[in-house]
Amino acid sequence: MGVKYSSKINKIRTFALSLIFIGFFVMYGGIFFRTSPIVMTIFMILGLLFIIASTVVYFWIGMLSTKTVQVVCPSCNKVTKMLGRVDICMYCNEPLTLDPTLEGKEFDEKYNRKTRNKKS
Ligand SMILES: [Zn+2]
Repeated sequence: MGVKYSSKINKIRTFALSLIFIGFFVMYGGIFFRTSPIVMTIFMILGLLFIIASTVVYFWIGMLSTKTVQVVCPSCNKVTKMLGRVDICMYCNEPLTLDPTLEGKEFDEKYNRKTRNKKS
């Protein structure tokens, strides 16, 4: 499939990944409190919460990726996906904005047609 996500989603993915690392780090920290089972349990639960949080964030990414809009970047002419009204191109970091009046179902069709005409 090779599905690529927008820069915003990439940032959220990085955040979710860091949550997993924080979770494992906290759980690992619990080992140093082996002598007190209560503190160790708190660390383990805390670490587990971070990992659960990252799972939620990953699930959220899945929801968001269905809402991305495919557009052709006006700067590098590559097809990129954007999330929301404002995002940046994942190839050249060109800021992209959707005109609120063009936002909606017909938007990408119009845009693609326009770009195709430009190329031919
Ligand atoms: Zn671009």
